[in-house]
Amino acid sequence: MSTTTVAFIGLGNMGGPMAANLVGAGHTVTGFDVGQEACDKAREAGIDVKGSAAEAVAGAGAVVTMLPNGALLLSVYDEVLAAAAPGTLFVDCSTVAVSDARQAADLAVAAGHRAADAPVSGGVGGAEAGSLTFMLGCDDALAEEITALLDPMAGRVVHCGASGAGQAAKICNNMVLGASMIAISEAFVLGEKLGLTHQAFFDVASTASGQCWALTTNCPVPGPVPTSPANRDWKPGFAGALMAKDLGLARRAVEESGTDAAVGSLAEELYRRFADEGGAGLDFSAIVNTIRERSAATAE
Ligand code: NAD
Repeated sequence: MSTTTVAFIGLGNMGGPMAANLVGAGHTVTGFDVGQEACDKAREAGIDVKGSAAEAVAGAGAVVTMLPNGALLLSVYDEVLAAAAPGTLFVDCSTVAVSDARQAADLAVAAGHRAADAPVSGGVGGAEAGSLTFMLGCDDALAEEITALLDPMAGRVVHCGASGAGQAAKICNNMVLGASMIAISEAFVLGEKLGLTHQAFFDVASTASGQCWALTTNCPVPGPVPTSPANRDWKPGFAGALMAKDLGLARRAVEESGTDAAVGSLAEELYRRFADEGGAGLDFSAIVNTIRERSAATAE
């Protein structure tokens, strides 16, 4: 069966525009979402929305999923694997635990299908523009076919290794991002207390050994990088809830693999608390304000 007939399950903020880009590239796209609003928008974008996930996958050559978490991914696979034609290509683009990604792929293969994990970075803007970076985890033999399938939604597809390797790359990268944003935010607040201006710290660190994306692109304080979320009241961007989610997945992988990752684990604790205490809907760089508030309280 041709992968130009695609079933797309999970038509939310990311999945909706991704599926629309497949339609734009000339694919026949069926779809399903449990939410009415997502279904209505998808219909407007030319997706043939069905009454269930099982109905959507019948007759499709490829099934793409973009769901909130691993438990839902496994329950959707449980529902659809028997309804799909043998040999269907299952590509999960959700961000889930490495162990859930591997379990989902194993279930698909055991049911006679082919499977990959392909989580993304680039956010809703990248989904709309068709410029997402996909981190692909699958057998070498599948990589070319999946890259072609993802092309209308992608700026870049990186084949990271076998099943689960895409999710592994995603959480390792985001563990660095969470930890580096905390480090940069602590440095700004420490600088404030020492009488160092934001601009002076930025001018030095942005061209010295403290240089990183958290500073030079997503600078947590307003001013030095005019396009960073801090200049629009920390409107995301990359929401605190999503950073807390990704660091939770990293923490789970750290524990399951027995890795000594003290900084990554602490970053998860700090971002979970940040999300629980009002930061869920703000850009993750707003953690600088929490650090400043806690520093003020400690100084009293
Ligand atoms: P979302 O909540 O907007 O979309 C998820 C959709 O899945 C919803 O429309 C929901 O109704 C649907 N859904 C839930 N259970 C379902 C089921 N059983 N069957 C069919 N549909 C079901 O979330 P999103 O922002 O689109 O994120 C999707 C995934 O992409 C998540 O795993 C997230 O971590 C990841 N991600 C998001 C971003 C981002 O910036 N939003 C960036 C990178 C990765």
